[in-house]
Amino acid sequence: MSMNFDLSEEHRIFWDAMASFVDKEIAPLVDEAEAKEEFPVPLFKRLGELGYLCCRYPEEYGGAGADKISECLYMEELNRICAGIASCLLAHATLSTSPIYDFGTEAQKEEYLVPAVQGDKIGAFALTEPNAGSDAASITAKAIREGDEYIINGTKTFITNGSICDYALVAAYTDPTQRAKGISLFIVDRDNPGFHVTRKLEKAGLRSADTAELAFEDCRVPAAKLLGGEEGGFVQVVKTLVGGRISYGGRCAGMARGVFDITKRYVEDRTQFGRPLIKFQVNQFKIAEWAMYIDIMHTITWKAAWMYDLGRDCTREASMVKLFCSETAQDIINQAIQLFGGYGFMMEYPIQRFWRDSRVLTITEGVPEIHRGIIYRSLDGG
Ligand SMILES: Cc1cc2nc3c(=O)[nH]c(=O)nc-3n(C[C@H](O)[C@H](O)[C@H](O)COP(=O)(O)OP(=O)(O)OC[C@H]3O[C@@H](n4cnc5c(N)ncnc54)[C@H](O)[C@@H]3O)c2cc1C
Repeated sequence: MSMNFDLSEEHRIFWDAMASFVDKEIAPLVDEAEAKEEFPVPLFKRLGELGYLCCRYPEEYGGAGADKISECLYMEELNRICAGIASCLLAHATLSTSPIYDFGTEAQKEEYLVPAVQGDKIGAFALTEPNAGSDAASITAKAIREGDEYIINGTKTFITNGSICDYALVAAYTDPTQRAKGISLFIVDRDNPGFHVTRKLEKAGLRSADTAELAFEDCRVPAAKLLGGEEGGFVQVVKTLVGGRISYGGRCAGMARGVFDITKRYVEDRTQFGRPLIKFQVNQFKIAEWAMYIDIMHTITWKAAWMYDLGRDCTREASMVKLFCSETAQDIINQAIQLFGGYGFMMEYPIQRFWRDSRVLTITEGVPEIHRGIIYRSLDGG
């Protein structure tokens, strides 16, 4: 009997290619994107041409036919360099395309998934509302059927890619008498009358990510825009969130690795009390622990991704990945700032960007209480 924990040769080649791509083509964009608070939009097309953008989808839809582990490696490399830029690409490659891939009709895949994979259309996923975040079933957006159309009304907030998207997957109640189960997803074109970007949001971190508030006012969409052609899409929302949480493991590991690299170099260089900080055993122990935690993040993320690809129920594992990796990455980054001392607090050192960006890791894609609840309920007697 044997059990194999190795990445495949293809994974390794893909990972190396992604690492050199982000170092060469994304790292030089970061300072300007952060300063202007603007996502470098041409990146979508560039990544689409290379087949990286939505690498997980099959070749028939223009993807690279890779797997969920590859998507996690892609996320890891992006986040190692810049979590803000990675946010928009993550929302596109997971939340805004996977529901179409998993549940869309062939016509919807042709019209939205194929151009999204190529970087010709940018997607957003609009679930959260001003009064419904963790409690997603409390959304009040409604889609009322009238003949061959639905009329959507509602407000969405904190939407990644909100102001740069070409389409948004919008969650709205088609049957408000059925809590959660009465929610459906619609693909709404950005230029559809009644789709308004009301505000681009200014953030404490992820400044190069696009985040906006949207309003849908008597927004009439053809019935053909109902995802999968069937009402009652909460299962679509749940599956989408599970997939996103696994990719988040790659996001957290990437941020932790980025911080690991720059902090290790810093403590090897910085001298106090006549010796480099790394010569104090307590600091060696910190670096050793971080290496161990990054290894654990990899292991649980890749295991959940493997289960996802096999089509197994991995709701619990996805929550474990999201919970463990987000809290662990935050701890590592917090300790790293301490090792930088006053320099860690100065804007001229990139470590502060990781610190600001990492604060959101335990807010987006489910707050820790939500994941602890999911894990508890998955246990016998839970
Ligand atoms: C940068 C950014 C990008 C985002 N992108 C998107 C996007 O693309 N699409 C989208 O739909 N949404 C997006 N969101 C929204 C995100 O998913 C929500 O912020 C998240 O679900 C939490 O909801 P909330 O902010 O309303 O916080 P709340 O739900 O109000 O939670 C606030 C706090 O209350 C406590 N709490 C909540 N629930 C419980 C509980 N069950 N038990 C105990 N305590 C609890 C926790 O301390 C929690 O941190 C984004 C958010 C941010 C900040």
